[in-house]
Amino acid sequence: MAEQRGGTGIDSTTIKDIVRFHGHMCPGLAMGIRAAEVALSEVGPHSSDEEVVTITETDMCGVDAIQYLTGCTFGKGNLIHLDYGKNAYTFIRRSDSKAVRVSTRPGAFDRSPEHNELSAKVRNDSATDEERSRYKELRANRTEAILQASVGELYAVEKLESADIPPIARIHDSVACAGCGELTMETRVKQLEGRRLCPACFEAALSRQGSVESN
Ligand SMILES: [Zn+2]
Ligand SMILES: [Zn+2]
Repeated sequence: MAEQRGGTGIDSTTIKDIVRFHGHMCPGLAMGIRAAEVALSEVGPHSSDEEVVTITETDMCGVDAIQYLTGCTFGKGNLIHLDYGKNAYTFIRRSDSKAVRVSTRPGAFDRSPEHNELSAKVRNDSATDEERSRYKELRANRTEAILQASVGELYAVEKLESADIPPIARIHDSVACAGCGELTMETRVKQLEGRRLCPACFEAALSRQGSVESN
């Protein structure tokens, strides 16, 4: 791959595949592509097994590009979601514990006031046809700008000294829930009055008791 001073280093065929995987092209997906490039260059390559772990602090569009490009997926246990609502990712290579965290630079992902206004109108269904197409145009321009920017303009990249390396995914035994009877991974089962319950039945039993606390 030729060295890129700015602009995505991901080829257009791969980008098409990522768009197919995600369902559409959008600024969030473009941000995910750019973050994944850091993973590939700093701790890569694509993880066919569990050698690379991604900790994602968002569950929005960008994660799909991360999954596609890094090979870190929920099913393999090497994609861990922290529900922080930040477009930030930590990539860890297990073999030598090399780890980097990328976080969106303040301002890098901001939309223009016009874009924000149109976005609100589209969301509440009050946009005219012209406003809709202008919105699409602004979105496409923004996506393109993200793909053309240098990674450093979009993200702060920080090397971590000692990352907490999550344990390799293990297969746990399952037990039948005393409420619904469904097999539930043992580590997720909760005890209530001597009954072993799945999380859903546990929550339901608690709210029936009227003792559910907001948390
Ligand atoms: Zn999207
Ligand atoms: Zn149950």
